[in-house]
Amino acid sequence: MSPPKRRGTAKSEEAYRSSCRVLPGGVNSPVRAFGGVGGTPRFIEKAKGAILTDLDGNEYIDYVGSWGPLILGHADDRVVAAVSKALCHGSSFGAPTVRETRLAELVIAGVPSIEKVRFVNSGTEATMSAIRLARGYTGRDVVIKVEGCYHGHVDALLVSAGSGATTFGTPSSPGVPEGVTSATVVIRFNSLDAARAVFAEHGDRIACLVVEPIAGNMGCIPPADGYLQGLGDLCRAHGALYILDEVMTGFRVGYGGAQGLYGLRPDLTCLGKIIGGGLPVGAFGGRAEIMDRLSPLGPVYQAGTLSGNPLAMAAGIAMLEALGDPGVYNDLEARSARLAEGLEQAARGAGVPTFHTRVGSMMCTFFTDGPVTDYTSAKRCDTEAYGRFFHSMLEGGVYLAPSQFECAFVSTAHTDELIARTIEAAKEAFASI
Ligand SMILES: *Cc1c(COP(=O)(O)O)cnc(C)c1O
Repeated sequence: MSPPKRRGTAKSEEAYRSSCRVLPGGVNSPVRAFGGVGGTPRFIEKAKGAILTDLDGNEYIDYVGSWGPLILGHADDRVVAAVSKALCHGSSFGAPTVRETRLAELVIAGVPSIEKVRFVNSGTEATMSAIRLARGYTGRDVVIKVEGCYHGHVDALLVSAGSGATTFGTPSSPGVPEGVTSATVVIRFNSLDAARAVFAEHGDRIACLVVEPIAGNMGCIPPADGYLQGLGDLCRAHGALYILDEVMTGFRVGYGGAQGLYGLRPDLTCLGKIIGGGLPVGAFGGRAEIMDRLSPLGPVYQAGTLSGNPLAMAAGIAMLEALGDPGVYNDLEARSARLAEGLEQAARGAGVPTFHTRVGSMMCTFFTDGPVTDYTSAKRCDTEAYGRFFHSMLEGGVYLAPSQFECAFVSTAHTDELIARTIEAAKEAFASI
């Protein structure tokens, strides 16, 4: 590959002015607007493999990967072929197809805690439905949520911690009534003591605890040793369901997700991103006895006009079949380790204080000198330094997440050469901030 082409941003700027006239903030999901780093968002013309091309013809090595789904890179030939073939036979029927069964079989084979699965259209829908099912199944109302974890824009989970350690939360967005978050308790990530305190106080009212096993939406924060196991034990002891939100980590940190990596057996698991192969898909699944409480078998209502649609299922099947080769994850691990080490050395070489985290092909460079283990420590980062680093990398042809509090994702399309080039760009970027 020749050096990345740099051609200014006039077309993206014009496109952004147009989009701002008709879309709130010019975008359909807030982080795309570059609010966390300033500047004009790049409008994307096309992408192939690890390379994004914007409207002006600038090329970037992409570490966003559509925020996680594209573990095989953009427009992977196998996924493109599967979706094209499906599209020619109709994009949606609102009736069952064998592709849904096939993708369910693949998910169940990959994630042993899942015996039955329901497909939805986004990660948000998956967590929203899993919580409804947990409440319906247990006949209890209280949900424990972990601070800094993101589960989509589900009303009951758009919540900030209350004033005391074990008090009920308050809405973190206008438009969410107090009544909706008043049954949600927020606890600190990586603190089993916080979880113990809530269970001690409210144990017999708790329907479920939901957590990202590897936090990926406050940067990448791995779980402390024993933390996830401990949460599961607490749930079991109190008759609450343990829900792992693996929308990001599922099929990302290994074929069996974080639960495969750490040997966990949650009651329910939420999936999305990778299982849709880049199309809009979410899923939730778990023990058959719980899942069978869903409509039409059981009383807990859940439905979707486009759920399990043939294009999304075809993309997901092609994706999971490609990921079934164990060599894929070994390869991703090696490349991701090389990138993470290179970034850490580059930061150290330039004397920029940073803290680096990584699990498999998800990683983060936090602009802070202390360790980052939870939301409070993540918030200590110098977001302005991150913004300068981000723009310098962008100028150097590397597209990182336009926010400090996101992960970088490596795909199978990130060749050794692209990773080496990324590290070179990082040396310059660290030196320039
Ligand atoms: C992305 C994400 C979601 C939300 O998924 P959407 O498809 O954006 O609704 C939920 N949980 C986690 C852990 C995520 O990373």
